[in-house]
Amino acid sequence: MEKHKGIKYKSISLPRLNNLQPNIESTAIKLMEEAGELAQLIGKFRGLNGEQFAMEEKEVIEKMSEELLDVAQVAVSMMFVLEETYHVDIEQKVQEHIQKLIRKKYIKE
Ligand SMILES: [Mg+2]
Repeated sequence: MEKHKGIKYKSISLPRLNNLQPNIESTAIKLMEEAGELAQLIGKFRGLNGEQFAMEEKEVIEKMSEELLDVAQVAVSMMFVLEETYHVDIEQKVQEHIQKLIRKKYIKE
């Protein structure tokens, strides 16, 4: 993968789930479910107040991280479906995605 100078990257490696037969519909629905679970925790985080704040905050942030990884896992599962069933070149798409971010000035080179 072509990397750009001065830009930080976050690389995570998530597995292909070989005990499921995911498809476009099932991964899309799951993605929305997991995004909903993350949104619930963000709502909970916003509603926090009072003495137990610090303790509860830590717990909510912890759960938020777990739900965010569920979102990432489903996104990765959907990428495998696109690659294996629809022959999408995800690496190519990643390059185009980064070019888009540069074009939109979300990152500068
Ligand atoms: Mg979840």
